[in-house]
Amino acid sequence: MDRELDTALGARHVLVRTESMPLPADVRQNFDAVLLLLGEPSRSGLHWITRTHAAAPSLPLVALLPEGFGHLGPAAVQCGAQDAMTVDRISACICAGLEKAMERSHRTARLELEVSHDELTGLPRRRLFLEQIASEIERSRRDSSYSFAVALLNLDRFKLINDSLGPSYGDQLLVALARRMSRCLRPDDVIARLGGGEFAILVRRLESDNHGPSLCQSLQRETTAPFIFGGHEVFTTASLGIVTNTVQCLDPEDYLRDAGIALHNAKAEGNGRYRVYDVKMHEAAKLRFRREMELRQSITQKDFRLYYQPIIDLPTGRLQGFEALLRWEHPHEGMIPPDQFIPVAEETGLIVPIERWVLRHGCDQLRQWRRLLPPEMGLHLHINLSGKHLGRPELAAELGSIVREMEIDPQWICLEITESSIVQNHDEAMELLARMRDLGCTLSVDDFGTGYSSLSCLQTYPLDTLKIDRSFVMSLGPDDGSRLLVRSILALAHGFGLDTVAEGIETEDQLRELREMGCARGQGYLISRPVDRVRATEIVEAAAKGTILIPASTKRKAA
Ligand code: C2E
Ligand code: CA
Ligand code: CA
Repeated sequence: MDRELDTALGARHVLVRTESMPLPADVRQNFDAVLLLLGEPSRSGLHWITRTHAAAPSLPLVALLPEGFGHLGPAAVQCGAQDAMTVDRISACICAGLEKAMERSHRTARLELEVSHDELTGLPRRRLFLEQIASEIERSRRDSSYSFAVALLNLDRFKLINDSLGPSYGDQLLVALARRMSRCLRPDDVIARLGGGEFAILVRRLESDNHGPSLCQSLQRETTAPFIFGGHEVFTTASLGIVTNTVQCLDPEDYLRDAGIALHNAKAEGNGRYRVYDVKMHEAAKLRFRREMELRQSITQKDFRLYYQPIIDLPTGRLQGFEALLRWEHPHEGMIPPDQFIPVAEETGLIVPIERWVLRHGCDQLRQWRRLLPPEMGLHLHINLSGKHLGRPELAAELGSIVREMEIDPQWICLEITESSIVQNHDEAMELLARMRDLGCTLSVDDFGTGYSSLSCLQTYPLDTLKIDRSFVMSLGPDDGSRLLVRSILALAHGFGLDTVAEGIETEDQLRELREMGCARGQGYLISRPVDRVRATEIVEAAAKGTILIPASTKRKAA
């Protein structure tokens, strides 16, 4: 029988086995297929198919059933055989059957490869990567001294590169980057592509505490070196988050999640950084998530309040306007200041409905106050706008319909945008600011002098007011250096024809110095803290009767 088969099969390496013969260990390496001759295909016969399939799942397997047992064919296939046939048909069908079985098995293997590997870079995809993490978790369970790390790398501004150079350059960049990154890894480390510009790296056998961080640095070096495609020199940076198994995670997905949290922290600090995961990051991420859910609820429950901080005309001490400052009246935690929730709102896009509320609510308040004042008396309302709006030029139309509905002259509304968000979103800032200016609002650059200052920002954008950041006002005092700095900012603002507001005036000395330097307006705890609408309304009523908030400027006292 064996000889007959050998002839029929020609040169293919086919292992012919009967039930009693064990499977050699090298079957996967040395054979193309297995033929199982089942003597009496009872339950144990079929079990033999299952065992053989489990030992070599990728090998095509054909079950040969004795005459009269053809009805067991489907059961044999269910147990893992690619095909089953009765012995009487062997000679005629054996080659064709094997051919088919092998082809089917190869096709399955090819499909599996396609599903588990990224087409572009040839790197494993997420599922395969998770399987590799699972095997590392097992290994570290068996050997408590064994440690490994999982890193996530995200190419900064990948979308921008794709959009500006075209997706085919983006693809080339990813392939070249994958190649470069592989060079930093040892042969048994694993790199996978999770999608877009995001890669995952499994670092097996950590050699020291510094192994992970130094790998992150090498990967960043590889990313930063310029890529050259079709005459274009492309510069990139990457952000990374890394987690080691010294932090106990139970599940492969936990590692990706924690590396993702560390990556998020790295990105929050700016591009081209890496962060090593620690438990506090997870706590912060959970709080962020909770805050997001609570914010969503608070938008519908209207849990936001506006506080108003008076802005005075510095020479006369008269009320000149207010800055509207947002507060969140948390259902259980009381009043939460903006810097604890605005970043979450910006990240999740919730800032859009929140600031729509601020605009409407602020304008409504301004309308009520204007009724208390003589028509010739001006009162400005300064409203802070998040940089996230800079990509939404339609905000100008939204504000337009609010001011029409409330019958407010837009010149009394001053929109404050921080210098850093203007500089980071150059074109979008230009478009929105121009539309707001067309509407008739005034525009102020907030926190001037912090971040990356750009003098051209003062010249290029249609601005009316410059707000001198609190940090400069705070440092005013005996030190000549800071006085010179404030004096220079004021000179710059006047040179560009901009009005000036100093923030954070807390002491009489600061007030006096700012007055002497010719700063036009100011706000700060010395004049008034931000107050609720009831107290702000009292301030407006008093101003209508001519009351001043702080005595007018006096001559400098003798030293
Ligand atoms: P900002 O626009 O620079 O607002 C001034 C901040 O300085 C306010 O903090 C105000 O309470 C505080 N401040 C005023 N005078 C003094 C002073 O004399 N000393 C000290 N130490 N602080 C003073 P607040 O209300 O916590 O607001 C913080 C930031 O939150 C604001 O900084 C602004 O960037 C943002 N923010 C507030 N409301 C909104 C809003 O409706 N939309 C957006 N996008 N951001 C807002
Ligand atoms: Ca402001
Ligand atoms: Ca400010």
